[in-house]
Amino acid sequence: MIRKKLIAGNWKMNKTSADAVSLARELVSAIGSQSDVEVVICPPFTSLEGAAKAIDGSLIKLGAQNMHFEASGAFTGEVSAPMLRALFATHVILGHSERRALFGESDELVNRKVLAALKNQLRPILCVGESLAEREAGSTLKVVQAQTERGLEGVSRELAPTLVIAYEPVWAIGTGKVATTEQAQEVHAFIRGLLTKLFGDPAAQKVRILYGGSMKPANAPELLAQKDIDGGLIGGASLEARSFVELVKAAAAAS
Ligand code: PEP
Repeated sequence: MIRKKLIAGNWKMNKTSADAVSLARELVSAIGSQSDVEVVICPPFTSLEGAAKAIDGSLIKLGAQNMHFEASGAFTGEVSAPMLRALFATHVILGHSERRALFGESDELVNRKVLAALKNQLRPILCVGESLAEREAGSTLKVVQAQTERGLEGVSRELAPTLVIAYEPVWAIGTGKVATTEQAQEVHAFIRGLLTKLFGDPAAQKVRILYGGSMKPANAPELLAQKDIDGGLIGGASLEARSFVELVKAAAAAS
């Protein structure tokens, strides 16, 4: 089963809309027409429209970093799936560890968002991963299992292949500490096994499972060569065209 590698850039709370447009333009000229790797950029909400225009006509796709599960209503400060679709977003990051830790997002809330995204033809990039304390306590797989199963409750077999899962060990995000290839592959294979139990083997084989956590051009080739690592969710190294482009090239080379 060949899964096309996917490299997604999570720009977090960085870039004004003008800065986002110039980065998106740089990416379009460097990698906008390659089709070996699927590329998604996830700018902040304020930059989605500008970025959408900048990537229009290229193969780069647009994602958001979060959304509310309702379509509209009295939810001050929130943004919905139909609003993202109207800006031509195709993906949405859900359950990022920063949202879980800093904004109190529970698995149940993340699950409502996953279901709402799928209902609106947005591909969720569901983030799961253990903290350092959880890894040291030997509960990595238990934590990842709970986040994955609860986050995906109610997802149909038909829609399962459109899912993207990002395994992001919390201790590796923005810290410069990267999981070893063995640590990452072990968890990716475990997630693939969970997906097989939930949705059956054909669907599970189609789901892209990304690694996230200090992925850089220097460590990417080894990670991307692993059987169940289908790409990366990139934070810091997605904020600069050169490193992001190198990561896309590393994914192409590993394909
Ligand atoms: C992330 O926050 O999704 C991430 C992987 O960040 P970084 O690459 O900076 O560790």
